[in-house]
Amino acid sequence: MIPNNSAIQNIKRIVKSGRIPHSFLIEGGSFEERTETATYLAKAIVCEGEDKPCNECRQCKITDSSSNVDIIFVGTEDGKKIISVGQIRNLRADAFIKPHSAQKKVYVIKNAELMNEQAQNALLKVLEEPPTSVVFILLSPSRTLELVTIVSRCCILTLSQEITSDKELEEEAKKIIDLLFDNKYYDMLKAFKPYEKDRSKAEKLFRCMQELCVSVIKSGNASNHRKKILSLIYEEINYYIELISLNVNMPLLFSSAVCKFRNYIN
Ligand SMILES: [Zn+2]
Repeated sequence: MIPNNSAIQNIKRIVKSGRIPHSFLIEGGSFEERTETATYLAKAIVCEGEDKPCNECRQCKITDSSSNVDIIFVGTEDGKKIISVGQIRNLRADAFIKPHSAQKKVYVIKNAELMNEQAQNALLKVLEEPPTSVVFILLSPSRTLELVTIVSRCCILTLSQEITSDKELEEEAKKIIDLLFDNKYYDMLKAFKPYEKDRSKAEKLFRCMQELCVSVIKSGNASNHRKKILSLIYEEINYYIELISLNVNMPLLFSSAVCKFRNYIN
């Protein structure tokens, strides 16, 4: 998925200017969107090509394979609910070690909102006097969850909420059902793809599909065979909606849904 478009434009502009701030705060959007945007930004920072990120140079390639040791992701440790002061102290010490192969070392703090005050104050020290070859990217649902002193040190990138209107969802739902009856299962999977990262949108899409099933079943136009299939799909979707709330793997959920629907058709 391509991260938030306006944020990308901002990142390109900043990187092109050659004046890369020492610290960024990416706020808004979903956790996945913030992480993707941060990865894109980190890649642009370490890129050695012309139009950054060029996707061609050594740094871009190792970033794409998730093996760039100069891009360091920091999150909560297993079983912990906060990012501790100890973790930030380790990060601070590490920040003074030169990058491995890139010009810069980038630290991405994935849940900056989970740093307690002590950890934030420890981070503040290094944000105030950062080593020249280091960039920090803090990710948070909102800047209001961070200390004002931290926020004031950061270049802020706000991810806009890309709202898919109910109308658009209805059209998507209709498209998916049409694809099913046209036996275009691969296209169905592709149509579900954008919803993998957004559970609430996926649930809305499923509910739209159910509404559509009901309206066709109630109308006199469809054959009994088609009505039967739609009522099976309606029932099956209840199960998927329940699964969404249970945090299941979304790509897996959509592919099993497509398989199941396909069995009804054939
Ligand atoms: Zn590159």
